[in-house]
Amino acid sequence: MVNAISVLGSTGSIGRQTLGAAEHLGLRVAALTAQRKIDLLEEQARKFRPAFAAVYDEQAAKAFKVAVADTDIRVGSGIEGLMEAATFSESDCVVTAVSGAIGLKPTLAAIDEKKRIALANKETLVCAGEIVMKRAKDKGAEIVPVDSEHSAIFQCLMGRKPGELHKILLTGSGGPFRGKARAELENVTPEQAVAHPNWSMGAKISVDSATMMNKGLEFIEAMHLFSVTPDDITVVVHPQSVIHSMVELCDGTVIAQLGVPDMGLPIQLALTYPERCPSMFEHLDFYKLRDLTFEAPDYEKTPCLRLAMDCARKGGTAACVMSAANEVAVHKFLRKELGYNRIYDAAAGAVEAIPFTAHPDLDTILAADEAARAYVREKY
Ligand code: MG
Repeated sequence: MVNAISVLGSTGSIGRQTLGAAEHLGLRVAALTAQRKIDLLEEQARKFRPAFAAVYDEQAAKAFKVAVADTDIRVGSGIEGLMEAATFSESDCVVTAVSGAIGLKPTLAAIDEKKRIALANKETLVCAGEIVMKRAKDKGAEIVPVDSEHSAIFQCLMGRKPGELHKILLTGSGGPFRGKARAELENVTPEQAVAHPNWSMGAKISVDSATMMNKGLEFIEAMHLFSVTPDDITVVVHPQSVIHSMVELCDGTVIAQLGVPDMGLPIQLALTYPERCPSMFEHLDFYKLRDLTFEAPDYEKTPCLRLAMDCARKGGTAACVMSAANEVAVHKFLRKELGYNRIYDAAAGAVEAIPFTAHPDLDTILAADEAARAYVREKY
């Protein structure tokens, strides 16, 4: 179990729940960062009294500094602020709850300091999974997944020997538009897309869940986290989100992890691992559970999932380009500057347009990420 944490992205959905878990577990919160929601950050800072807090947006950081001038909290800004929080000496664990590829550099910096990474930022592994996992192995830094599916797989694999795993069964609810054809989704609004049936999440990931790009990103995340190939992962649509994912072992045994769909559970486990502690969450009531149903994904209706799986097979910079393009497109959609179906068009268009590198180093990855973003900003 960890003692003190840095929370990158503390005002987002995962960040807020992480602070709830820290309070419940009695952990010290040593550093916080936010993008620009300084009112909430101030509230959090006054409650948890971190030694350091950073605001990514420079203007907002100035205002935040004034707001907490009566405290002894040191204030940072920009990517340097995130880096400082990620490497903060007092923290033995960094919760990476920022949204998007901005999480990559701070995560690598935290790995270099041998911090435990409670990984809630899937773009980091999608973008540079090979580099991040290799760095963690070389430095001896633990990566404990917070994403509910990966936490489930991680739990199902506890105590397993190498070679026992036959297949990962990655489950997904199918999102709010499950079964709907592309033509029916032409006029979907941001409000409709973020209304997820089971999970309460931030706006970006909610849209990704609707398009099933989220499941595609998780597919790539799982490949890296568990050192498996695309052929070792099967996506299973499970609308109730009670099973959070499963593993099939070499003898045909399937082990599943079940629980209420609340991100608080995987967050808590990432902080207490390898221990478990009582949680403040509801427990499953099997008398009330009705049907648990399963179906195969319809790749015609979920082109984003298909695209992500294609990029997973392609390797190199493909997934990074797709994810960066998707990120920009989703934010455009949320600002009502881009239609819902155009999110896929932008991601697929970027994968076509941006030159591919099969074995990229970190600089090549960051350049591909930036090229994909520029492409979507200009063309869509
Ligand atoms: Mg997930």
